Amino acid sequence: MREIVKALLKDCSTRDVFCFSIRCAECGQVWSSRQTRFSKAGVHPKSEGKQVIFDALYQKEHELAKNDAVREATDIFNRCPICRRTVCNRCFLICEDLDMCVHCASQLNEQGAPVTPSLVEMVV
Ligand SMILES: [Zn+2]
Ligand SMILES: [Zn+2]
Repeated sequence: MREIVKALLKDCSTRDVFCFSIRCAECGQVWSSRQTRFSKAGVHPKSEGKQVIFDALYQKEHELAKNDAVREATDIFNRCPICRRTVCNRCFLICEDLDMCVHCASQLNEQGAPVTPSLVEMVV
């Protein structure tokens, strides 16, 4: 699941802030990760050496922020085993035999309850 999420994760980071998002394939809701600030945001490197260091630091923090976003998103998104789309907790149903997305459930006449019935944890 982590690899799937990682591949779908959209990078909307800026020079100062790291941020990632994923769109639910069913409802289209866009989830955004918690924003984390680059530790050197707004700091101007005083030398070329510092510039190189800041750039490397940025890469490192970017990677860490991405891993955090993947971890967060893995709790909120699910892969439907039928249509293989990645959908949010509101669009993913816990069914009797196999958990699946709302679309597949209605196609297959399966009943189930969504993982998360409310929007609460989707709100950024
Ligand atoms: Zn959804
Ligand atoms: Zn499905």
